[in-house]
Amino acid sequence: MISIAKPNVGAEEKEAVCKIIDSGMIACGKVTEAFEEEFSSYIGTKHGIATTSGTTALEVAIKSLGIGKGDKVLTTAFSFIATANAILYSGAIPVFVDIEEDSYNIDPDLIEEKLQEQPEIKAVLIVHLFGLPCRMDRIKEIVDRHHVMLIEDCAQAHGAFFQEKKVGSFGDAAAFSFYPTKNMTTGEGGIVLTNHDDVAKKARLLINHGMEIRYHHKEIGYNYRMTNMAAAMGQVQLSKLERFNERRRANADRYICGIHNTKIIMPEMSEGHVFHQFTIRVKDGLRDRFTAFLEENGVGYGVFYPLSMPEQECYKQYGFETHFPIVDCIKQEVVSIPVHPLLTDEEVDMIISVINRL
Ligand SMILES: *Cc1c(COP(=O)(O)O)cnc(C)c1O
Repeated sequence: MISIAKPNVGAEEKEAVCKIIDSGMIACGKVTEAFEEEFSSYIGTKHGIATTSGTTALEVAIKSLGIGKGDKVLTTAFSFIATANAILYSGAIPVFVDIEEDSYNIDPDLIEEKLQEQPEIKAVLIVHLFGLPCRMDRIKEIVDRHHVMLIEDCAQAHGAFFQEKKVGSFGDAAAFSFYPTKNMTTGEGGIVLTNHDDVAKKARLLINHGMEIRYHHKEIGYNYRMTNMAAAMGQVQLSKLERFNERRRANADRYICGIHNTKIIMPEMSEGHVFHQFTIRVKDGLRDRFTAFLEENGVGYGVFYPLSMPEQECYKQYGFETHFPIVDCIKQEVVSIPVHPLLTDEEVDMIISVINRL
């Protein structure tokens, strides 16, 4: 079975982590600090605050911007649940909008429409889904004109860029995840990025029990600190990220050139896309037959995502709007096929021939 995702962690990571273990300084420390500096300068922001996961990074990013009880945050209906959960953790209310059919990302026209309709909305939380940057020129223009804050969920888009600027450097704050299936990993982990000094200061407080001076707690915080061990793995992974992403793009290119099936809608190869997932659409209600065929032929796959966020059972109590024409259609058609950097050309060609045979 060719698996849909495979963490690419090897001898160098092992050596780096063992060095930390031998040093005895295994918790959050100097290595975490160094990783924060390296990752934030790679993306192009002034500050980086490493955390325990992408979810906690999102939560801290939102809270550090002063978003709280009763505030409204506009976001996409189509993402991993952590995006909307992080809004709810702060006491804020998510307002969902539909996506663009060709990019799976939030539709800028609908951002404009909602901000006009609900001027009390405080922030827009965008997701660069599957590794494809949102249309940042349009989105920046809209949020600036409406004076609302911009938060980027970059959990699937490490190193992705729009017009030469990396995602994570456009907004007031951004969050990345370093879960093993993402473009780079620290086991579990995340990071908050920002250019604002006050936001960085607040984030730093929140992840460390509201503490600046030892055992003096300015506010109720959390323990969301990243360990030196995770950070050491992150340093090695960051040094390989560009190579990983090039390999993902090469695999995607091979699919785009090789797959010819009239029942399938393929993604486009666009500049700055880092293909966290290679997501195709299977038309005419044939997805289940398609995935069964993949399985029979030893090809792993994923359905990201079978439901929109607002229609999830856990949100029933909130009564969110659940009707989104594009998401409602594509959630029944999407299938992600393996695109990770450990695939060989032979495996990619095998997957292409399986799909072309259907
Ligand atoms: C993975 C992911 C997260 C959460 O990251 P974790 O490290 O798993 O907590 C948030 N948003 C999106 C879009 C993700 O894909």
